[in-house]
Amino acid sequence: MHISSAFDSGNIKVIDKKSTPVELAIRIDNQSDFYQWFHFRLEGEVGNEYPLRISNAGKAAYPEGWENYRVCASYDRHNWFRIDAEYDGKALDFTVDLEQPSIYLAYFAPFSWERHLDLIAWAQSDDRVQAETLGLTLDGRDMTLLTIGNPDTAKRKVWMIARQHPGETMAEWFVEGFLETLLDESNSAAMRILQDTVFYVVPNMNPDGSVRGHLRTNAAGANLNREWQSPSMERSPEVYLVRERMLATGGDMFLDIHGDEALPYNFVAACEGVPGYDEKHATLENIFKDAFEKASPDFQTEQGYPLDKPGEANMTVGTNWCGHQFRTLALTLEMPFKDNDTLPDPIEGWSPARCRSLARDMLFPIRETLAYMDEAEK
Ligand code: ZN
Repeated sequence: MHISSAFDSGNIKVIDKKSTPVELAIRIDNQSDFYQWFHFRLEGEVGNEYPLRISNAGKAAYPEGWENYRVCASYDRHNWFRIDAEYDGKALDFTVDLEQPSIYLAYFAPFSWERHLDLIAWAQSDDRVQAETLGLTLDGRDMTLLTIGNPDTAKRKVWMIARQHPGETMAEWFVEGFLETLLDESNSAAMRILQDTVFYVVPNMNPDGSVRGHLRTNAAGANLNREWQSPSMERSPEVYLVRERMLATGGDMFLDIHGDEALPYNFVAACEGVPGYDEKHATLENIFKDAFEKASPDFQTEQGYPLDKPGEANMTVGTNWCGHQFRTLALTLEMPFKDNDTLPDPIEGWSPARCRSLARDMLFPIRETLAYMDEAEK
């Protein structure tokens, strides 16, 4: 039996290969305390069972994320299915019943850097898209912004950023689905919205953390979603570059795409705790949420984070910073690592296909909210 993880977003340490179960541990994000993302390959004898134990699971960033969690697995790195796991408060145990000579195991279906580059290359081949390198990350990777639509004639500007937390790969599966929808020339809603709206999309806010196999931080150990008040080129160039561009460009709507380790639902968090949160914020938020619920049975508003008290928002968080700075709608979308418990999928759990489907359905609440803005200004 052989275990390896020296590849894009790989993360595992073999502690004891001879023990039963085989003892493994997740590597900590560089220069930080966070860890939870894992991704490795196991090679063995077809027909054998391989009991595995992630022995440091209980001290991971979100231990409640392991409750009712099922491990993502794939033989072909294309189709991902789930393997049952058991969590006793300390370790995560699961058994691989090997049907092919090797299997990949991960916290969620990985979205590789190569796939990211493919996505950018595909998108920029469309006349309506401009790909722009805002600058470089600490490891020297491109920070790419896609501008979709005509900035000179558009009346509205919508920002979408994803994967500030690199282990939340569902966020980039979502963006891929959103771009496919927006650029689909047989989708009349997409064609209509691009007549007067321009989209600014950053598909991957944390390239270095993604490739390094981090859960939550960039190469320097910075949690990018706590850097929005005072980002720097030394510690958080990813946020610095995107924020500068936002300040220069402005925007009518800000969407930040994430995944949540613990909650088995899709939900949004708003910026109700920022100074100056007002009727406009609240109205736009309600219109968006109502329309999203109508558009997708995968979206709901019952389950989510506790609301911030007025004036008590953490202003270092991207959504709060944007909602306050631009005095408009700013939302964090959270998707599950586990499953949507209101519509569970016993084979795949929450999956890349469901992320893309949810993204497709998000076009409707965006349109409804922009239509309201137009109406209110008349
Ligand atoms: Zn996140």
